[in-house]
Amino acid sequence: MSVRVRFAPSPTGFLHIGGLRTALYNYLFARHHGGKFILRIEDTDQARYVEGAEDDIIDSLLWAGIDYDEGPKREGDYGPYRQSERKYMYHEYAEKLIEEGHAYYAFDTTEEIDEMRERLKKSGNPSPKYDSITRQSMKNSLTLPQDEVQKKLEDGDEYVVRLKVPRKEEVRFEDEIRGVVSFDTSGLDDQVLLKSDGMPTYHLANVVDDHTMGITHVIRGEEWLSSTPKHILLYNAFGWEPPKMAHLPLIMSPSGGKLSKRKAESEGIPVNTKDYIAGHYIPEALVNFLAYLGWSPGDDSEIHSMEELCELFTLDRVSKGGAVFNFKKLMWYNENYIREHSVEELMTDVKELAAEAGWDISDEEYLKQVIELLHERVSKIDEFISMGDFFYNAPSEYDEKAAKKWKDDSVTLISDYKESISALAEGEFDAATLKSKLEEVIEAHEVGFGKLAMPLRLAVTGQGFGPDLFPSIEMLGKEETVSRIDAAVQRLS
Ligand code: GLU
Repeated sequence: MSVRVRFAPSPTGFLHIGGLRTALYNYLFARHHGGKFILRIEDTDQARYVEGAEDDIIDSLLWAGIDYDEGPKREGDYGPYRQSERKYMYHEYAEKLIEEGHAYYAFDTTEEIDEMRERLKKSGNPSPKYDSITRQSMKNSLTLPQDEVQKKLEDGDEYVVRLKVPRKEEVRFEDEIRGVVSFDTSGLDDQVLLKSDGMPTYHLANVVDDHTMGITHVIRGEEWLSSTPKHILLYNAFGWEPPKMAHLPLIMSPSGGKLSKRKAESEGIPVNTKDYIAGHYIPEALVNFLAYLGWSPGDDSEIHSMEELCELFTLDRVSKGGAVFNFKKLMWYNENYIREHSVEELMTDVKELAAEAGWDISDEEYLKQVIELLHERVSKIDEFISMGDFFYNAPSEYDEKAAKKWKDDSVTLISDYKESISALAEGEFDAATLKSKLEEVIEAHEVGFGKLAMPLRLAVTGQGFGPDLFPSIEMLGKEETVSRIDAAVQRLS
């Protein structure tokens, strides 16, 4: 059997980070087995359709390196890959179910259904359903005479198609991650399969598509687990063998509970993939992090390329329990990947941000040196800009906390230092000499290194921390350094 899996997002908004993880696991699984990864757009809910969402999904996947084999804009043998373009199929299949006695037309209005629910509630049923019992007293093709049904259909009366969910039956299936899962059908409504607007519901479209697209494994989020019994009933009704099922653990917020959009926002966690793109995160880092969000290879290794992840990934190592989104860990990954990238590789992204920041980057060598000096210190690409701004602009203000280190004796110390470096010839203005000059001054004054280094860093960079000080001063050059020291003495004393 050759593996075919799918990622089936609804284009209802930007691609959520949880969706990206689902796509990634499907992709890894497909590649691990030499199978195919399909992208299917589930756009049957027209009320929730968001213009541009499909593009966002595709852009996000490709940015992350999750390439799909078949899908919109990449037609294969099982298309079309947008459900709105497969509408005719769902009708055919719904009719087939009706013919074979597994589904029926229902003509009840919303008011009539509400009335039924109210009535049953009053007689002590806390959660009344449209089910095997109540359907017998409702307006549908099981209760109405055949000619009346025919007439209603011909007159174009509104109807839905419902699945005849069997009464009190146990639906069991083996989940690849959770083991045997069983549900009792007595908790289920007669599921609507076709809506009155002629569109299929998620359940019908999902099952018809998974079957007709030859999907072998359904790998999706845990929130869909409760839909699976309905899907199994549908597979049974069609006489089709269901694909293997695997439900991924929920993504949890660090403070507990599901990582909802609201929760993520309040905890400073970007929730949409586009935020990671805009935030200049390293895609490989996000992928590596997401791979470990609910899965691990079973040893203590942590850094893996996409290729290695494809090789390592198996469903039996996916955890059942919720996976906590540890943002610090993501930053750790990002930092690691930045270090692994060469200066040349980082150049494009940094240049883009530098241009936005208004840096004059005509001197490429200089920019390269800036990146080199900061390479070990940043954990995100945009920090090259925040930490490196002093290479292009004299500090317009001084970090408040760091400015507290500017003490009474700072002026004397820094002035002595300024004098000593002002005397240096052009060719002597290098990091090693700049350091030895500082040592001379602190020895003469019998003070510790920080007594001068701190105010000096503050004067030159405006910050309390940053890249190695002496190479930075060397890059700024004598004139600029001296002028920054003068400015600091004036403004901080
Ligand atoms: N359209 C569903 C979603 O938005 C697909 C769920 C599934 O994978 O079956 O996630």
